[in-house]
Amino acid sequence: MSTKKQGLNTICTHFGELEDTQFKGAISPLYMSTSYAFEDVEVKRYPRYFNTPNQVALSKKIAALEHAEAALIFGSGMAAVSTALMAFLRAGDHIVLQKTLYGGTYNLVTEEFEKFGISYSFTEGLQPAHFEAKIKENTKVIYVETPSNPLLTITDLAAVSKIAKKHGLVSMIDNTFASPVNQNPIDFGIDVVIHSATKYMGGHSDILAGAVASTSEYMDRIFHLAKNFGGSLSDYTVWLLERSIKTMGIRVKAQNENAQKMAEYLYENKNIKAVYYPGLLSHPDHELAKSQMKGFGGMLSFELNDTIDAYKFQKSLALIKSSMSLAGVESTLLSPTKTSHSLLPAEERAHQGIADGLIRFSVGIEEIEDLIEDINQAIEKN
Ligand SMILES: *Cc1c(COP(=O)(O)O)cnc(C)c1O
Repeated sequence: MSTKKQGLNTICTHFGELEDTQFKGAISPLYMSTSYAFEDVEVKRYPRYFNTPNQVALSKKIAALEHAEAALIFGSGMAAVSTALMAFLRAGDHIVLQKTLYGGTYNLVTEEFEKFGISYSFTEGLQPAHFEAKIKENTKVIYVETPSNPLLTITDLAAVSKIAKKHGLVSMIDNTFASPVNQNPIDFGIDVVIHSATKYMGGHSDILAGAVASTSEYMDRIFHLAKNFGGSLSDYTVWLLERSIKTMGIRVKAQNENAQKMAEYLYENKNIKAVYYPGLLSHPDHELAKSQMKGFGGMLSFELNDTIDAYKFQKSLALIKSSMSLAGVESTLLSPTKTSHSLLPAEERAHQGIADGLIRFSVGIEEIEDLIEDINQAIEKN
C-alpha cells in the first residue's frame, strides 16, 4: 500500500511497524540491542546512529504523518530543535525567529548562539512582512511556531515559506502545539518540521522525546550532526512512543472537540476577561487557522477577571491539575508568568502580550461536562 492512500489513523496504528516473524505477535517487537553484527548496510547499526530497528520503524511512521520523505527521533524536543537549527547554521550566519517562541527555544537562542558566532533577530510581529523585514545578507534560516505558546497566535505558513524560498532560506517550524493530526506544514512549503514528542505524540505525560521530519537530503544533513551531538532516544522509549502514536489521531480529535467546547463556554462566561483559541470566530486569525489547520488543537488560554485571584482559582480546581507540561490525556493548566515563561524578562513577556493573570489550558479527553463543572466550582470559591 502506498502512504498516500492510507488515512491518518491507519498510519498511526500500523505504518512502519516491525513484523514479529518469530512469534507472530500483534505489535512491533522491541529490540534493545546496542550491538549488532556487521551487515551490508552503509552505517553500522547503533542507537546513537539513529538506525536500530525500532528507531527506523518509528521514523517511517513520523515521516508519513508529516508528509515528509524522512524523519529522525530524538531524546527530547530540545535535542530535536537544537540539532535541526545547528545543522543549517554556522559561525557568521544569521537566523530570523518568530517573536513568540517556546521558552526553551528562546533560551537556546539567546543564551547559546552568540558563543557560536551565530546572530539572530526576532520579528516585531507575526505578519509575513515582519519576517521579511528582518532578513539580512547572511540570513540562512526562518523559524516559526504556530499556533504559538501561550497566546495561540497563527503564522501564515504558505506566506512564510514563499518568503524563505524567495531569499534562498531554510524554513523551519516547531509544530508541537498543532501535532501532525491538525497541521502538516510541509504541504504549505515549509522545509523542516520539528516536534516535542513529549507532548501530543506521547500524549500520556510519561515520555520525553523529539522528532524532526523533512526531505531525505535535509534529514541526511541533520543526521550527520545528530550522531555527533548524541541526542538519540533509547529504544525502549522509542517503542513506547510507537505505542502512544497508535491512538494519537483519536486522542487529538477528542482534545480538539473538548477545547472548542471549553473555549466557547469560557467566552460566554462573565468571569472571564479574554479567551485565546483559534477555533473561536472571535480569534483574529480564525480564517487563517481554518485555511492551514485540520483541527484547532487542544490548547487554549484565558484571562480571569481582575476580581478573581488566579492563584486561588488554580488551587480550588479539583479535577484539572496545575502542571508544567501539556498535551496529555489529562487536563492541565498553568500560569505562564510563574512557570513556562518565568525566565523571560518581564518587559519581554509584556512585549509578547502575556498578562500576569493569563492561564494556559491544555484540554484533555475527560468528559467536557466534568471539566466545565470543575472550572465553575473553582470560580465560585473565589
Ligand atoms: C515542550 C516543548 C518543546 C521542548 O520539548 P522537550 O521535549 O521538553 O525538550 C519545544 N517546543 C514546544 C512548543 C514545546 O511545547
